[in-house]
Amino acid sequence: MRPEILFPLYAPVTSLKGVGARVAPLLEKLAGPVVRDVLYLRPHSVVARTRATANTAVEGAVQIFEVQIDAYKPPRAPQQPWRIETYDGTGVLTLVFFGSFGGQLPAKHPLGSRRVVSGKVERFGLNLQIAHPDYILPLEKAGEIPLFEAVYPATAGLPARTVRKFALEALERAPNLPEWQDAAWLAREKFPPWREALALAHAPTSETDMAPQTPHARRLAYDELLAHQLAMAQRKAERRAEPASPIQASLLAQKVRADLPFSLTGAQERSLAEIRADLAAGERMSRLIQGDVGSGKTVVAMLAMADVAAAGGQSALMAPTEILARQHFETVSGPLSEHGITAVLLTGRDKGLARADKLRALASGAVQVAVGTHALFQDEVAFQRLQLAVVDEQHRFGVAERQRLQAKGEAVHLLAMSATPIPRTLELTVYGDLDVSRIDEKPPGRTPVATRAVPMGRVEEVEARLRDAIAGGAQAFWICPMVSESELVDLKAAEQRSAELRQKIGPGVGLVHGKMTGPEKDAVMADFADGKISLLVATTVVEVGVNVPNATIMVIEQAERFGLAQLHQLRGRVGRGRRESACVLLYDPPLSETAQRRLDILRKTDDGFVIAETDLELRGGGDALGLRQSGFPAYVFADPFAHRDLIAAAGDDARMIVARDPDLTSERGKALRILQELFDWRAGSPLKDAG
Ligand code: ADP
Ligand code: MG
Repeated sequence: MRPEILFPLYAPVTSLKGVGARVAPLLEKLAGPVVRDVLYLRPHSVVARTRATANTAVEGAVQIFEVQIDAYKPPRAPQQPWRIETYDGTGVLTLVFFGSFGGQLPAKHPLGSRRVVSGKVERFGLNLQIAHPDYILPLEKAGEIPLFEAVYPATAGLPARTVRKFALEALERAPNLPEWQDAAWLAREKFPPWREALALAHAPTSETDMAPQTPHARRLAYDELLAHQLAMAQRKAERRAEPASPIQASLLAQKVRADLPFSLTGAQERSLAEIRADLAAGERMSRLIQGDVGSGKTVVAMLAMADVAAAGGQSALMAPTEILARQHFETVSGPLSEHGITAVLLTGRDKGLARADKLRALASGAVQVAVGTHALFQDEVAFQRLQLAVVDEQHRFGVAERQRLQAKGEAVHLLAMSATPIPRTLELTVYGDLDVSRIDEKPPGRTPVATRAVPMGRVEEVEARLRDAIAGGAQAFWICPMVSESELVDLKAAEQRSAELRQKIGPGVGLVHGKMTGPEKDAVMADFADGKISLLVATTVVEVGVNVPNATIMVIEQAERFGLAQLHQLRGRVGRGRRESACVLLYDPPLSETAQRRLDILRKTDDGFVIAETDLELRGGGDALGLRQSGFPAYVFADPFAHRDLIAAAGDDARMIVARDPDLTSERGKALRILQELFDWRAGSPLKDAG
């Protein structure tokens, strides 16, 4: 239940003065449906005004003049503006107005009247002018023109100054709330109280006041991060509190492992040991294995599934696409079945009798491992004793979907797998409710992918070499970027490219794109895997982690538009076998210095974690990182880069709070509940993130 003290902030935006039926939808689009959302809007810049006279005016500056209205010059043609000639004792200043309302000006500002005006000074020939002054007021109202004015985000029909008015009114509605931050920490960080921090955020008097490192900005960022970390720590604690029957490392898994044609890497050993410690602990496990595509995550998960089978339980391995599910099935079913552990593949394709057979085998316990897609958590699927849910690329499933799978057993252990490298500093924000094992070492014998950046002007060379390689039996990917807002436009570009390549290279060119249905995509991918297609042109939707060992060339068009992590993942699709592989990053010159350095990193390293970390530093955070897509939450106040030191602090703080006051009943605990409300990170509510 929402505390009463917050009611004013959760009133609809129409409760703000001046927000009626016309404005409400605009404000809702800009901010959100309630007053709190308007309160959270902040200025993105400030206008600093100085007083000036015509003879000291500075071009380009926003300045204030005291003038007398001398003459009106109506437009001589419809497209021309109204001009008001004014004089301030030192020179002439012309005020220029485009639009149809010019005719109303003489009545408002009669000839001979004195006015104070403000706006951006321009020089037009010899003339000094201001187009659309931001203020024209009688002299006695000069005090209304602020020397510093915060500029708020605006939208068509809702100018920045109106938004500012609403934001300030929302601020007035904001109550003083009990302090939820630790007193010592507040003092150390010199954080102002919440209400004051917001007031400061809405009243910048310079650019410096808007920097992310001001105490008030850090305070608000920390509030937000703590609310989130706390929700994740609570969720983790809840899972832990559920007892689960201990599962021991087994002889059976030992045998499966002994039969593998390779030995585990050190990182795989470590991850397996961590998983086994969790499984044996008698609490529910929530662990994530993070590691590049091909680093051996699935093999580790398979050994954990063997332990579960040895203990008489069942496991489910869920992947976001059918192709991935099938590949996982191929990886695990062979080694497991050698030792009497049976696996089935369950996807949307299974229909009728065959499906019924599989479902029966799962329900009876005749089968110990189910590998599949979304089909796995459908209502008709029942397990005899599901104990372990392995979820691959977990951020591609909703929290609710994963919960539906886990609800098919009692205290089901969760093992998530992700190939999306998240910088270590941000790990807590994405996976705060999970324990993380990192596989940061590749199985031996892989040749690094030779990576080159090539300007688009040399695309014909690339095509020629591609043709030669394909003639020699190689297979290749050609990735077309998402460049427009419209999927259809991007699709056109990809179709055009594939037609062109077909002309130059031959008939073995296929195309997959996001508008295709699952089975259509699968059919093309299968042809590629079987070698019927030599060159696969794809929009960025190619399934993550798809394994085609014979593919050795990856061409990425407009590589500068991709996130580094994404480029790294795309490149990870080649270089699977022992053959030399190449990755060509085609770019549209000229590259900015940052873009150049980003592409350089890819040439220099092959380590997803290093790449993610460097990308974060180079880009300084923000949306462009593609973090959102990997489950990074959409924070309002916290900046993943500027506030990265606060992330770790909030994580520690949250863990301590949950350890000391799990039900949030202390004074601070009660205040923290208010904080959680303020950011919608309530315990028990579906979290906005993907963790
Ligand atoms: P991931 O799930 O991380 O993409 P997989 O577990 O599917 O990786 O392994 C990718 C490929 O590498 C598989 O063919 C697997 O058999 C092989 N592999 C896994 N671990 C090793 C290892 N330690 N040494 C050699 N090959 C390995
Ligand atoms: Mg995999």
